[in-house]
Order: sequence, then structure tokens, then C-alpha cells
Amino acid sequence: MLQKPERLIVDGKRLDGRAFDELRPVKIVVGPLHRADGSCYIEHGKNKVMAAVYGPREVHPKHLQEVTHAIVRYRYNMAPFSVEDRKRPGPDRRSIEISKVSREALESVILKEYFPRSTIDIFVEILQADAGTRVAALNAASVALADAGIPMKGLVSACSVGKVDDTLVLDLSKEEDNYGQADMPVAIVANTGEIAFLQMDGHMTQEEFRKALEMAIDGCKQIYKLQREALLAKYGGLENE
Ligand code: ADP
Repeated sequence: MLQKPERLIVDGKRLDGRAFDELRPVKIVVGPLHRADGSCYIEHGKNKVMAAVYGPREVHPKHLQEVTHAIVRYRYNMAPFSVEDRKRPGPDRRSIEISKVSREALESVILKEYFPRSTIDIFVEILQADAGTRVAALNAASVALADAGIPMKGLVSACSVGKVDDTLVLDLSKEEDNYGQADMPVAIVANTGEIAFLQMDGHMTQEEFRKALEMAIDGCKQIYKLQREALLAKYGGLENE
């Protein structure tokens, strides 16, 4: 267990040395899984996340088919070894909730009407968890959808913002998440500016909320840049072929 630190901000710096508006290091690998139609591996700080996309493909069971559009399914799963104490395998309330809200965020950008009667299945496995897994999962899923060639209004880019020691900070670390005052994961569609996802745990004043949202959007734009660079590294040369 992490010890509760006396303070989370010392001499104007966070315990891991980051500035208030600084993300943890992010690494994105496009297409590591060959059996999936699209995939992405992301390391975000100490989080390690794999996303795989299958489809558009036939829906099973068939009664779930929609005649006018594709259905989207999203499964967020934490591996038992991803956290400090072993997590009981299988779905729980938390993972069911995260799967639902993440699916809704991605459904808002996927052009589902292109693929009637089919399904787009998104699986996200959290291999190592260290706060902010739902946003890392969304970032990985969004790149995996692009890798699968699924048409979208834009990429979904996510990051969290929170309040610790009465100070707003971007991309909470595990300690900040455990002992902070608020945590707000946000996702945007970077090229339209729409907010695709927003949750909040804890308390903020209206003024803090406005500032926090601004910081989160700025963080999402930084993530978008990295997602785009990773996709261009794999597909950027295609127009010349
Ligand atoms: P997020 O990972 O999106 O920040 P939470 O705020 O619910 O979601 O969780 C924060 C962190 O707490 C997770 O990233 C993970 O490190 C840890 N955690 C979540 N669920 C469990 C669990 N069942 N057992 C141990 N640690 C967990």
C-alpha cells in the first residue's frame, strides 16, 4: 500500500517532480496484435494497456443486430496481476460502468450507419494499473479503431485532471488519485472540440471546474498529437505508395 504522504505538493512541485500541467510520459504502439483488425498498446506513466478491435463483423447473438447501423461493444478488463493486491478476475461494478461510459464516448464518433447489421467489438486489457486507466484505455481504443480502418468523426483523446492540496493538477498519479480531493477524467474529439466523456469524483468550485476543464482539454490535445504521430508513423507513407 502507498503510504499517505503529508503533502502532495512540495515547493511548488508534485511528488514525482512534474509541473501542475504536465502529463506523465506516454508511449503509443500501433498494431501490435496481428489477429485483431486493429490494435494499440499504450504506456501512460506506469499504466500498461492493450486494446484490440474486431470488426465490423457479423453480430452474435443475431437478435442484437440493428438494421440501420452497427452496434458497438466495449469491454474494459483489469488483469488480476495489474494492481498491487491481486484483483478478483472478471467483471465487477467498476469495470461494467467504465465499459458503458467508454462505449458511449466512442459511439459518438464512430460512423455506425456505414455498417448496418454488424458489430464493432473493442476489448481493452489493463495489464498494469497506476491511476488513469480509463483514459489510457480510451486513448488506446481510439487508436485501435483507426488502425482497424473504422471511419470516425475524429480520434477520441482523453486525460484526467484533479485537485490535490487545493491545487489543480493534470494527469493524476496514483498517490494523487488516492489522497487528492477530486479526479475528473475527460475525453474530447480533438478535431471538432466536442467533449465525448466527462466524469468527476470529489469536489471542485465552479471556478475550479472551469479551470480544470481547460487544463484537461489542453492535456487531451497533447495526447491527440501523440496518437496522430503514432498513426502517421505506421500509415503516414501510404499516400506515396
Ligand atoms: P482510473 O484507473 O480510471 O483512474 P479509478 O479512479 O477507479 O479508475 O482507479 C484508480 C486506480 O486505483 C486504478 O488505476 C488502479 O491503480 C487502482 N484500482 C482500481 N481498481 C482496483 C482494484 N479492484 N484493486 C486494486 N486497485 C485498484
